[in-house]
Amino acid sequence: MPKAKVKEIKTIGVLTSGGDSPGMNAAIRAVVRKSLANGLNVKGIKKGYTGLLNEEIIDMDRRSVSEIIGLGGTILGTARCAEMRTEEGVKKAADICRAHGIDGIVVIGGDGSYRGAQKLSHEGINTIGLPGTIDLDIACTDYTIGFDTAINTAMEAIDKVRDTSSSHERCSIIEVMGRNAGYIALWCGVANGAEDILIPEKYDYNEQDIINHIIENRKNGKKHHIIINAEGIGHSTSMARRIEAATGMETRATILGYMQRGGSPTCKDRYYASVMGAMAADLLKEGKTNRVVAQKNGQFVDFDIDEALAMQKDIPSYEYEVSKIL
Ligand code: ATP
Repeated sequence: MPKAKVKEIKTIGVLTSGGDSPGMNAAIRAVVRKSLANGLNVKGIKKGYTGLLNEEIIDMDRRSVSEIIGLGGTILGTARCAEMRTEEGVKKAADICRAHGIDGIVVIGGDGSYRGAQKLSHEGINTIGLPGTIDLDIACTDYTIGFDTAINTAMEAIDKVRDTSSSHERCSIIEVMGRNAGYIALWCGVANGAEDILIPEKYDYNEQDIINHIIENRKNGKKHHIIINAEGIGHSTSMARRIEAATGMETRATILGYMQRGGSPTCKDRYYASVMGAMAADLLKEGKTNRVVAQKNGQFVDFDIDEALAMQKDIPSYEYEVSKIL
């Protein structure tokens, strides 16, 4: 049987979509520079799929990505785009790509962004996804761009709250991001030596256990009690009121919020995002489509998007058990 002809790519586009994360700029830079080195033209698409549908498309060269590797956020901007969820929106996006000569796109974002990429690929635009989210909640990969920076930012903030909690002999409930996933809470909980770590995957909503734990620690002379609460559980302020009433210990909630999404990316985020961005550029050059780049068991790999979206991921049980003991 004759081999299917591989589509030849001449021009690629790159966009960032969904929530921003530190390291996205390093990924953009690598996509641009590796694609140029591969002999392709590169266009930047602003504000995710919204910018694509509004034709906010710019030419990019090596200089366009100078001095961005250490910047948080994304120089291209990002957005959530309802129109892309519709069949007409996807067809329009593919037509716009063709009108601008874009044969392939690198989409940097989370699972939702991958779904958009999957649909574009069915419309004949070659797509490669890169895992850009601080939440670490993409099943096919052990690493996502921005997670490392976010946990370090949160860890430093929690250390500071801990100092004042200790001075005032307070209980502090510190809420960290992560949407429905508890990875940021688990990592910071362990790294900050929290007394309780509440993550949506495991929490049984038994507040009495926490109250008993605080009372017991107080009896043993503990000066503070740090509870790391994941965004997926939320309600930290009302939880603080109930805990204070039940324990008599002054209890304050601190919601770290968007600070966790910003800031200069760590070395790990810059390095991994750079390697992954380069891989995405190479996959497009090879004519691949409907793939995502991932990190699995220490290796950089790629998966079919359909396969990646069907994968499941859970908090590692051993790590969670250890977090409770420490
Ligand atoms: P984050 O993890 O930061 O939330 P995400 O990529 O999962 O990132 P979403 O808001 O779920 O964030 O998706 C980003 C965009 O991808 C959406 O605004 C939409 O434009 C597109 N998208 C999401 N789901 C679909 C879908 N089922 N079909 C087509 N496009 C989609």
